[in-house]
Amino acid sequence: MKIAVLPGDGIGPEIVAEAVKVLKALNLKFELETAPVGGAAYEAAGHPLPESTLKLAKQADAILFGAVGDWKYDTLDRPLRPEQAILGLRKHLGLFANFRPAICYEQLVGASSLKPELVAGLDILIIRELTGDIYFGQPRGRRSAADGHFPGADEAFDTMRYTRPEIERIARVAFEAARKRGKKVTSVDKANVLETFQFWKDVVIETHRDYPDVELQHMYVDNAAMQLVKAPKAFDVIVTGNMFGDILSDEASMLTGSIGMLPSASLNDKKQGLYEPSHGSAPDIAGQGVANPLATILSAAMMLRFSLNQPEAADRIEAAVKKVLAQGLRTPDIHSAGTTRVGTVQMGDAVLKALG
Ligand code: NAD
Repeated sequence: MKIAVLPGDGIGPEIVAEAVKVLKALNLKFELETAPVGGAAYEAAGHPLPESTLKLAKQADAILFGAVGDWKYDTLDRPLRPEQAILGLRKHLGLFANFRPAICYEQLVGASSLKPELVAGLDILIIRELTGDIYFGQPRGRRSAADGHFPGADEAFDTMRYTRPEIERIARVAFEAARKRGKKVTSVDKANVLETFQFWKDVVIETHRDYPDVELQHMYVDNAAMQLVKAPKAFDVIVTGNMFGDILSDEASMLTGSIGMLPSASLNDKKQGLYEPSHGSAPDIAGQGVANPLATILSAAMMLRFSLNQPEAADRIEAAVKKVLAQGLRTPDIHSAGTTRVGTVQMGDAVLKALG
């Protein structure tokens, strides 16, 4: 098995180094190969996703990704900006299913901005469709007033679109995932207003016929945004489209109060996946040795479970993370009175030790 390691920019290399350290300690048979991506690749090869990096990613069984981006690249032409590397990887590998668990660890309940009783024990999974919807629909663009569509006014437009196979495959992913958890799926839509999401709802209902053991609930996106802060523990698996998922998964991640703790996975239909922390490259703290590596280490655990068929190794990593939290070790982002402040490398070392 081969893992492509793409550390990227900012804190990316620091946190990926810790995850690689943990992976190596498991003594499993896989090959790790590193390649530049994002701003680092732009500096090295003139493009955020060079051909050689894309080739490695395509050949690999899984990709361990750090983060990309830095404000210094904000003035580059859009196709050359670091973030384009992620979009390119999603597109070329067909990574249509994004998994974002939002788990509130017992020891970090106080870090949430919600009342402890609302988030204690929280364990929800947001499954976001990643390659369709208004982010990719055509046509899109701008028209000037001179084109005469709306006399006297310039305009911009995007197209919201989903096909039946796109909805069906993400619905299946959600029902399958729910079967291994709380057996409940909430499909989030805006069927009351949008044709695309009435169709989404219809196809989800049809697909559900194959999963009678899983409960299906429908919720409008505005209500879902509200329920996520009112009673988040009422959810098990949420499945939704690309744009709604983009927004709701960030909202859900904040319920846990600690962006440095949240892993993510983006999978294609061959279970090949890209695994990355939910946060960005944090240029404000890069190079200081203070970044929290746990989201990346937990992303490596998801990789072992979903793409590399090593669920026991994944369990070992997750148990080790819980153990270091119970020991009171905290990077600055999750530090509070009475706990021990550690840096990136010390946190990685502690997880390594806790693997047993
Ligand atoms: P960010 O997630 O990088 O940082 C937001 C805040 O969270 C910052 O204060 C940062 O210091 C903190 N933070 C993030 N990760 C942390 C960690 N592991 N440990 C401790 N603190 C952490 O978001 P941003 O500041 O909006 O964006 C910075 C850059 O990252 C931008 O160039 C953006 O485009 C890029 N970005 C990349 C990805 C990705 O690679 N998938 C995702 C989001 C943002």
